[in-house]
Amino acid sequence: MLATPAAVHALRVPTPFAVGDVNCYLIDGHPLTLIDTGTKTEESAAILRAGLDGLGYRLGDIEQLILTHGHIDHIGLAAEIARSREAFGKPRPNVLVHAEDMVRVAQYETFTKQRMKSYADIMHSSGVSPKDAPGVTERMMTHYFLSMGESVSDVRPLVEGDVLESGIGQLRVLWVPGHSQGSICLVNEENRLIFSGDHILGDISSNPSLDFDVTTEIPMLTYLRSLDKLLPFDGSTILPGHRKPIFNLKHRVDELKEEYARKLSLAEDTLGPKPKTVYEISRVIYGNYDMDSMILALAECTDLLRILEQKGHARLETVEGVVYAYSVDD
Ligand SMILES: [Zn+2]
Repeated sequence: MLATPAAVHALRVPTPFAVGDVNCYLIDGHPLTLIDTGTKTEESAAILRAGLDGLGYRLGDIEQLILTHGHIDHIGLAAEIARSREAFGKPRPNVLVHAEDMVRVAQYETFTKQRMKSYADIMHSSGVSPKDAPGVTERMMTHYFLSMGESVSDVRPLVEGDVLESGIGQLRVLWVPGHSQGSICLVNEENRLIFSGDHILGDISSNPSLDFDVTTEIPMLTYLRSLDKLLPFDGSTILPGHRKPIFNLKHRVDELKEEYARKLSLAEDTLGPKPKTVYEISRVIYGNYDMDSMILALAECTDLLRILEQKGHARLETVEGVVYAYSVDD
């Protein structure tokens, strides 16, 4: 097992989501680099500030802010960090995110409104009725998500192979679309270290299906292909966006593939001659999940059914905007 360099500090910042804390990583040296930010809530901002303070830094000292992907728990405080630096009369920090997730950061409000419409649409197409999700409306979700982030001006796009300087040496951008289209891992070959964002996590699976409205390919298939992109780095230490570091990369990739295969066969087992909605099937696969996890469950379940349909193991039919799934052999 390789030791993580002393110049890398994991700052655990709370989020209001079921996933718990997000790991933001500070890298000492020049340029002073922060990877990911936490949501724009007072609690997250205070804890990030306190974490930096404990290391002798202020928010405004950050020179380079790299966002592993455009999800709110990773980008919410980016605008605040940029402003803090300007408040000291220093040039803005370099804020960097993959080109495919640029819009999420640079036009947060516009993107969030579109997203929440997609969330409302997937609830409808999955057959969720108002009594299944009391109080959950597009308006409520929009209000909630808009409060947790804001647009950042002057964001710079990253693409596969870009190399960034940091206090521990070069960080190379590995593009791993799936969890979001613009997800990246940052590879630090010098220390055999990978900052993986949410592409791979230790004891929970990253949702591979949330970009259902962004791409025509089944997002879970994109994700599984991107998982394989990590395999050449077996033996590296993985510093993920949530939970603890991963030291057994190949083993973890295998585990995740098995888990998605198991969910796929579980989804197939639920199918019969009678039509079932995505929502009904999601309750069989994921159990009694709470409202916070509903979109995650519906999006992933939709992917499972689309994969089964592609393999000829399921039949999907849309009636008045609602998708119904059947077995094929009845
Ligand atoms: Zn994420």
